[in-house]
Amino acid sequence: MLMYEYKAGREFVGRLDYESDLLLSLTEFIRGKGITAGTVSVIGACKKAKVAYYNQLEKKYYDLVFDKPMEIISCTGNISLLNGQPMLHLHIALSDEEGKVFGGHLIEGTKIFAGEFYIRELIGPELQRKKDELTGLNLWE
Ligand code: ZN
Repeated sequence: MLMYEYKAGREFVGRLDYESDLLLSLTEFIRGKGITAGTVSVIGACKKAKVAYYNQLEKKYYDLVFDKPMEIISCTGNISLLNGQPMLHLHIALSDEEGKVFGGHLIEGTKIFAGEFYIRELIGPELQRKKDELTGLNLWE
């Protein structure tokens, strides 16, 4: 197990713009604030969503597009560094008009209807991602 200890830094609460891209807006925000480690949570609704599913055998992501209005039941994740740049790793659970829930690894292409976010900065050691040969994923090192 790999583990680092942090202290809580700045905390932010905000509302995303109508029709903004969920991942791109938050990435722009954290880079603008210089947040290099942290936790993120978002709830709200989207007009459409794009997520990815990682096939563990093929070590490859497959995109899934849900082109309809949905609730963002929970979108949660973290902030760390990849190639020296702050990046978000977020997973999202969405629900449709029947209350059915589905989701995945958030990628660019999720269009916000309304969104409320909470971001907590973490102060401590640099949290870097590096390609892991065993899983094929960019994991913390
Ligand atoms: Zn993921």
